[in-house]
Amino acid sequence: MATEIHESAEALLPSGHLKPREGDFFNIDAALTEEERAVRDSVRRFVDEKVLPIIGKHYVDGTFPEHLIPEMADLGVFGANLPEEYGCAGLNSVAYGLIMQELERGDSGIRSFASVQGALVMYPIYAFGSEEQRREWLPKMARGEVIGCFGLTEPDYGSNPSGMITRAREQKDGTWVINGAKMWITNGSRAKVAVVWAKTNDDDSDKSIRGFVVPTDTKGFRARDQKGKLSLRASDTSELVLEDVHLPADAILPKSGGLKSPLMCLTQARYGISWGALGAAIACYEEAVRYAKNRVMFDKPIGAFQIQQVRLADMLTEIVKGQLVSLHLGRMKDIGTFTPQQVSLAKRNNVSIATDIAREARRLLGANGILAEYSAMRHMANLESVYTYEGTHDVHSLILGQAITGLNAFK
Ligand code: FAD
Repeated sequence: MATEIHESAEALLPSGHLKPREGDFFNIDAALTEEERAVRDSVRRFVDEKVLPIIGKHYVDGTFPEHLIPEMADLGVFGANLPEEYGCAGLNSVAYGLIMQELERGDSGIRSFASVQGALVMYPIYAFGSEEQRREWLPKMARGEVIGCFGLTEPDYGSNPSGMITRAREQKDGTWVINGAKMWITNGSRAKVAVVWAKTNDDDSDKSIRGFVVPTDTKGFRARDQKGKLSLRASDTSELVLEDVHLPADAILPKSGGLKSPLMCLTQARYGISWGALGAAIACYEEAVRYAKNRVMFDKPIGAFQIQQVRLADMLTEIVKGQLVSLHLGRMKDIGTFTPQQVSLAKRNNVSIATDIAREARRLLGANGILAEYSAMRHMANLESVYTYEGTHDVHSLILGQAITGLNAFK
């Protein structure tokens, strides 16, 4: 990953890195390696210079800023934690998390784009694909030449994907035919390839679920944008229809097997979201601090009033706690000791606190807080989607409840 030199000398630490942010109250920066800081700084600059100036307009217009894709690819953000031999950056989990944090400091839609590409499409091709599938798709996806989407959710099966109706039937010659519909699919109408999850043949149990790599120009595949979103507006969300989609025998991800395969992808994505949500929270907190120092009411800055100080203290405290959770989780992920339940705790907590922080920041900003030129309300609305996707807050409560009690609330 390339690191550029920042133009402003005062913004640099002696090591050449950017200063820790105001939101880094516990000096998490010092717990990072040189490489992790360098990666974080290069994505931070990209977000400051390329995302923040334009994202408000894209949000209002409901458009994804596609011109950013090549630069995101050059920065190495797509599948950043996958091996270099497939054209990826080969970074550790903490560096990957910091990328997600910085992207979502820009906008949850930008982070979602990168999360889906890396954790939900490149990861399953890497983890469950054949060597041919890896070599065919991963380098092009790392370069941003091919965009992917992940089709798990269906109109009638959201929190309970094991009920999915989409079906893949193996033909006598070993080829496959898929029929079904998927809903709420990020990047769906932009994707050149879809990883589609389907039950196979006549087996209705979730053990029969397998992943398929579906080029989106295959006959019978259609994607239609879902309109009217009031959240994640700078992101494409689509409905997929698969009608007698014929696929070659090698379209199946050979090492996928059962519901646990898509759930493993979700664990990867949820880990990134735990960091990403902190980025949105930091953006809101820092905006609120600036505003509190500058907005004068009753002849003094509103930041001098105790109510606003408590609000800011609460925001910062939750950010610090979330940072410590994600950093520790990342270190555990890198030594292979983290569990999906720990990821649930981090996703559930960090998205929840970020949602609250965004709302409090919006309130602190008064009327200005509802404008798109400030970020608080955009983040607040975005985080409602993040709260719901990748396992709703409630679903993660039940996962934790089961870990605590040993009792399964889903059955
Ligand atoms: P439901 O499952 O219908 O839940 C409705 C409510 O019931 C929620 O409050 C939920 O917490 C609650 N609930 C459900 N079950 C229980 C229970 N057992 N106990 C208590 N409460 C319960 N999916 C993909 O496959 N790919 C994507 O790329 C993708 N991108 C998305 C992008 C956006 C912007 C959004 C909003 C969603 C996206 N999703 C995607 C879908 C997302 O994962 C689902 O929305 C999510 O799993 C919840 O499903 P649902 O919306 O059908 O809600």
